[in-house]
Amino acid sequence: MSDVKHYEVVIIGSGPAGLTAAIYASRANLNPLVIEGVQPGGQLTITTEVENFPGFAHGILGPKLMDEMREQAKRFGTQYLYGSVTAVDLSQRPFKVTVDEKNIVMAETLIIATGASARWLGLESEKKYMGYGVSACATCDGFFYKGKEVVVVGGGDSAMEEANFLTKYATSVTILHRRETFRASKIMLERAKANPKIKFVTNVVVDDILGDGKVVTGVRIKNTKTNEVSEINCDGVFIAIGHSPNSALFKGQLELDDNGYIITKKSSTETSMPGVFACGDIQDSIYRQAVTAAGTGCMAAIDAERFLEQQKSFRRAETAVPH
Ligand code: NAP
Repeated sequence: MSDVKHYEVVIIGSGPAGLTAAIYASRANLNPLVIEGVQPGGQLTITTEVENFPGFAHGILGPKLMDEMREQAKRFGTQYLYGSVTAVDLSQRPFKVTVDEKNIVMAETLIIATGASARWLGLESEKKYMGYGVSACATCDGFFYKGKEVVVVGGGDSAMEEANFLTKYATSVTILHRRETFRASKIMLERAKANPKIKFVTNVVVDDILGDGKVVTGVRIKNTKTNEVSEINCDGVFIAIGHSPNSALFKGQLELDDNGYIITKKSSTETSMPGVFACGDIQDSIYRQAVTAAGTGCMAAIDAERFLEQQKSFRRAETAVPH
């Protein structure tokens, strides 16, 4: 086992929430440690242009935005540890955080910013053809579909964004959505509708992903109104049906809602455990934007700082000699 290090603030996750918490905590001289996770920078590192982050009138690439945030936090003394948290023990303070099953880090306060991960349909064929025609990231895999036909499953902003992006490479993109109406914002939906390479098929669910044993060759879909089953030939299937919170580590230790999101107190990032704070997509099933994640990251750092101050004043009061 390596040396056990002790920190006032440990931040798990390096998306906009975690890195904003790091900027604030490091500027407060708390020398935070950011445990970066398997995908440093989080979900924005697999997007393209971010058009709605204030301060970038002409947009900024997702990975570039995250690089800038990382540098900004580093400038004020944030330390980084590449690795994944494999266990946490929140039963007493300092909290014990295990990274990659071997490194132990002790934390006076913990800021959880583990975000959310892509959801899958749950089909056997989806697993079988993962990386061989099935993907949840157009930015990562779109290039492989030059001159090919693809489908995108979903009816939210992610599906519209993925579909638009894929038209750079694919000859046709068909959006398959299980309802008639879309969850996507008006601007994103209209942009997709105006794209001549994008077709829409509504009221359908994907029954199976078809292949020749090696790669995807199509999808079997079922109409939710008529139960009619049909097939669409395609080379790629992009799943864009939302995300699930990465909260498995905290189950049984923190209060979670029915969907697995960490519950935080109103107008605060406090969780059910004093000294543990949560920010970003791990505690937000409603807004889920980079800027709201960053906002709650700032709140978490301020909450952690105040908590540490309070603990110090308790200790001072305890050790004060009565006159
Ligand atoms: P989302 O808004 O939750 O949409 C998920 C979509 O997938 C919905 O249309 C849903 O259908 C469908 N779906 C869910 N489970 C399904 C299943 N098992 N089978 C078939 N379809 C299924 O998720 P999102 O699109 O990833 O967006 C998440 C958040 O990020 C949103 O707040 C969004 O605005 C934001 N976002 C913003 C941008 C941008 O502004 N550039 C880009 C991407 C995402 P139903 O509608 O029937 O439930």
